[in-house]
Amino acid sequence: MQRRDFIHKLGLGALAVGSAGTLTACGEKECAPSAAAPASGTAPATANHTAPIKWRMVTTWPKNFPGLGTGAQNLADLITQLSGGRIEVKVYGAGELVPAFEIFDAVSQGTAEMGHGASYYWKGKSEAAQFFAAVPFGLTAQEMNSWLYHGGGMALWAEVYAPFGLIPTAAGNTGVQMGGWFNKEINSLDDLQGLKMRIPGLGGEVLSRLGGTPVSLPGGEIFSSLQTGAIDATEWVGPYNDLAFGLYKAAKYYYYPGWHEPGTTLECFINKAAFEALPADLQAIVLNASRVANQDMLAEYTARNNTALRTLVEEHMVDLRPFPEEVLAELQRVSDQVVAEIADKDPLSAKVYASFRTFRDQVVAWSDISERAYLNARNR
Ligand code: CA
Repeated sequence: MQRRDFIHKLGLGALAVGSAGTLTACGEKECAPSAAAPASGTAPATANHTAPIKWRMVTTWPKNFPGLGTGAQNLADLITQLSGGRIEVKVYGAGELVPAFEIFDAVSQGTAEMGHGASYYWKGKSEAAQFFAAVPFGLTAQEMNSWLYHGGGMALWAEVYAPFGLIPTAAGNTGVQMGGWFNKEINSLDDLQGLKMRIPGLGGEVLSRLGGTPVSLPGGEIFSSLQTGAIDATEWVGPYNDLAFGLYKAAKYYYYPGWHEPGTTLECFINKAAFEALPADLQAIVLNASRVANQDMLAEYTARNNTALRTLVEEHMVDLRPFPEEVLAELQRVSDQVVAEIADKDPLSAKVYASFRTFRDQVVAWSDISERAYLNARNR
């Protein structure tokens, strides 16, 4: 489907296309308020709006970090462009307005109107938040979007963020990540014993229960830690981001698949009071711009990972390997335990887990005879 058709299907055609005729680029001139099309008889609040509404978007990413930071910027540009400049969204990289892990509070308190991050960072706020980013042996990107948009997931996410005065949206996806970089071969479960690996979140907990030592490190410290031997292994994202970090210079073996992050959803969250102050058409633009950004980031990662993987293997002679079956089977067994334990934390986590688990167990049957069967057939 063409982008323009997609926007028409969203019912945003007149506002969306405008003179620029495209959604990707947002040159200063096209986005300037003076170039805005007049609002076509919507809410009275918009009719007399001359000054643009200025919103701030705080993020957990370095500004314009490839894929993630650029995805946040893309969302901000889309909102400005689709609204004909009636909302101007300015993006702040991690630490520019508030530190990365304070963006949730900043938007909750109204210091900024929007945030862009990943919900598993907020498990300290609500354990249930972990279900809306990545779950080990959970949903692929396609399945995640299906659960969120058409399987009840989005309503649950809204319920989890409501006590904080926040409205969440899915606003990007990395697709399935890589298993990570290792400075030794992983041939059996014994090779996980004592393994010091940078792997955050639920995946780290799984590694810990299998005898490894999970380490939390911000992105900027990964390369030097791996190179000096302070850690034995690391996961990051996938070929696109991993190549940019030069991780192939610090470890020889590149394992797949990313069992711990099978389709990581990035999020946008919006201050509820700021959102509710918008007229209905601008609310629709903000929500639907997120849907476009959500899909676009996945498309970008798929395209860039593909070319970056070839560079890693063909130019940098990376040793690309699948995890052994025995290792994957045990990782899955322990992952299912760790994820199920989240349900014991509080009633809302139990409710989200039940929905997530039911959806995963049911969608497996369809994914097996559709995506998996087709991919197997194509690769025969
Ligand atoms: Ca990762």
